[in-house]
Amino acid sequence: MVTLSVRSGQRVQMIDITQQVQDALRDMGVNEGICAVYVPHTTAGVTINEGADPAVCQDIMAHFSEQVPHRGNYRHYEGNSDAHIKVVSVGSSETIVIQGGQLRLGTWQRIFFCEFDGPRTRSVWVKAVGVASARE
Ligand code: ZN
Repeated sequence: MVTLSVRSGQRVQMIDITQQVQDALRDMGVNEGICAVYVPHTTAGVTINEGADPAVCQDIMAHFSEQVPHRGNYRHYEGNSDAHIKVVSVGSSETIVIQGGQLRLGTWQRIFFCEFDGPRTRSVWVKAVGVASARE
């Protein structure tokens, strides 16, 4: 398993980690299989969405902020209930097919780390399971 370090610069932010995941994959010797990307935090998550137009990520985060405001009638003492709630929407993991040693993503797809309570330095766990060659 490889642990990526991701540094967010804002309270809420989507960070494209596709290349970091691909780089991590290179060292695992799996050419055909499955890659799990897991975020071990309760106020940050991971999702796959369009990476071509940055406005898509801006729209997603604006939608979350509108639906789940930072300040509200929450009971959680830390003051970051909105972040916990937003993680429920995106989830904590993604699974991507590995083909020919590459992440098999759709044309417009990228993997985004989703920060909801930054800025912070976060961990992302990457684990590939499979075989070194397609015929095994
Ligand atoms: Zn909290």
